[in-house]
Amino acid sequence: MTDRLGQPESLMRMALRVEHDIFLIRQRAREVAAAVGLEHQDQIRIATALSEVARQLLVDAGGAEVDFRAVAGDQPRLQVELTTPVPVPPTTLSTGPAVAVARLVDQLHIQDVGQATVVQMSRRIPPSAEPVTGERLARLRTELTESRPTAPLDELSAQNSQLIAALDEARRHRDELARLNAELTETNQGVLALYSQLSEELEETNRGVVALYAELDEKSAQLRAASEAKSRFLANVSHELRAPVTAILGLGRLLTDSASDPLTEEQSRQVDLIRNSAADLLTLVNDLLDLAKAESGRIEPAWTEVDLRVVFGQLRGTLRALETKARLVVEEPPPGSVLRSDEVLLSRVLRNLLHNGLKFTERGEVRMVAERDGGFWRISVHDTGVGIPTKLQDRIFEEFYQAPGGGRSAGTGLGLPYARQLATLLGGALEVTSEVGAGSTFVVTLPIGGVPAAAAADRPEGGG
Ligand code: ADP
Repeated sequence: MTDRLGQPESLMRMALRVEHDIFLIRQRAREVAAAVGLEHQDQIRIATALSEVARQLLVDAGGAEVDFRAVAGDQPRLQVELTTPVPVPPTTLSTGPAVAVARLVDQLHIQDVGQATVVQMSRRIPPSAEPVTGERLARLRTELTESRPTAPLDELSAQNSQLIAALDEARRHRDELARLNAELTETNQGVLALYSQLSEELEETNRGVVALYAELDEKSAQLRAASEAKSRFLANVSHELRAPVTAILGLGRLLTDSASDPLTEEQSRQVDLIRNSAADLLTLVNDLLDLAKAESGRIEPAWTEVDLRVVFGQLRGTLRALETKARLVVEEPPPGSVLRSDEVLLSRVLRNLLHNGLKFTERGEVRMVAERDGGFWRISVHDTGVGIPTKLQDRIFEEFYQAPGGGRSAGTGLGLPYARQLATLLGGALEVTSEVGAGSTFVVTLPIGGVPAAAAADRPEGGG
């Protein structure tokens, strides 16, 4: 057998003839292994492997030639080759010591060559060892020839101490393994405990979240129901109130009518008070009814082509009659200012804004302008009045909210929420910008095409 990796060169040869030779071979094997630089454990491994194989070959073949070689190359190794004088029955080696021996060495080959059996085993020389060179081999050969084998008893005692050391080593490993096992078990327990704690926490959190969602759903439903109930209540109450309030107004008018019995001056003053209060109440009731209708979706816009010039003209006409401190300017919209909308609802929104402007402006002007902005019309009502503090600019769109200092008795606080509801119903929006002392600008933005059919169909049905 030749080696493919390097050039094996014989370091030493020995003959195996009698039982005593097994001791010698083992001992020399250790010496050779030490000389080429194998580590202590590996020296014992290869020596043990060799003596096991030698023992078997002595029984099966009556002996062998033993050749120790150092193989150079990428992976330098110590190789021992045993050649028997007669072939060894194939089963004896492979089923006998070979299994155990194979574990002790890196390589083990058993091969029949003509009238002999060759057993070859090798163990790697560690990279830290001195490289196997021709010069080193020569040196090793001389050293080995000079060293004299010791007596079998010495070898036995050396073998014993090696065995003890190996046992110690095994015990240390076992102890270390036991310690690691214990540690692992403990860690596992810890991990398990942590895991189960985390799962429990997660489960609990999940339960909480689910409960929270259920509660939220319930609250939303309650809120919706409450809001609907409020709108229904407002609509019903205001509707029911309208008739008696109108009756009071009528009766008041009758009392002061010239055809009725004359009243004393005091009576006449008191009847006027009643009529004024009834008129205020009627305004409030009407506003409430409008808002309730808009909120409950019971207003269905009557979509038509609306000409802004017509709407602006009508508003200019009706509001001119009002006695106001500020000047009212309703600018003429550009020709072709048409959009799809509901003329009545749109007029209500704009009238509301103009009324407010005139109400909260002591001097200067209130100006209404229409501008085209892409697919929208922007209608701005700008005034030079008291203005609205920034932090109240959202609140004025809440029902009944009136900014402090604006002359509370002058309205109901329902105009803007109503106007915004209507603007939304018309597919648009109502926004405000304002500066205290400088004035306010309310802007209604409306889509030129009105509300697309699909979006309009999403709204709750209403009979107006
Ligand atoms: P009302 O006018 O009946 O009080 P609105 O809902 O129309 O109710 O308006 C709510 C509040 O918003 C008003 O009370 C006022 O404080 C403020 N506001 C509305 N328009 C103007 C404006 N043009 N200038 C200053 N403040 C305004």
